[in-house]
Amino acid sequence: MYRVGLGYDIHRKEKSRKLFLGGLLISKNNGLAGHSDADVLIHSICDAILGALNDGDIGEHFSDKDPKNKNKKSSNFLKKIMKILKDNNYEVCNVDSTVICEKPNLKGYKKKIQNSLSLIMKINPNKISIKATTHEKLGEIGNDKAIASKSIVLIQKNA
Ligand code: ZN
Repeated sequence: MYRVGLGYDIHRKEKSRKLFLGGLLISKNNGLAGHSDADVLIHSICDAILGALNDGDIGEHFSDKDPKNKNKKSSNFLKKIMKILKDNNYEVCNVDSTVICEKPNLKGYKKKIQNSLSLIMKINPNKISIKATTHEKLGEIGNDKAIASKSIVLIQKNA
């Protein structure tokens, strides 16, 4: 039995914060504002998995009102959601994500992000597709004020 889930997230950029994408430290500044480490890519993958499981969204599982989650590594959220997936007897068939940002250019990072997510999710890197695009200088993302991410995940129930 297959199920599919969709995730979308966006965070404002914040100069003084580190930028994490897919659990990988991309830069020590020009990061993203948020309660946790604001890893927009991981957040979109978490929501895609939860969507496939029909188990709410990341905000319900890891509230931004909870001081416990302040500055927390988003990789911890994804690990917990992978455990929920496993406990429900599902596995990930594949993940396909697109990160939308003007800066930085993610071309040289895509493979590293794929490997980072593979370690966090404990799945083969060939099941994880990471794509990057710009917003053609249009709107808030195009003005380098935010980074967004879209993810889709297919999961399969184990026999
Ligand atoms: Zn988020």
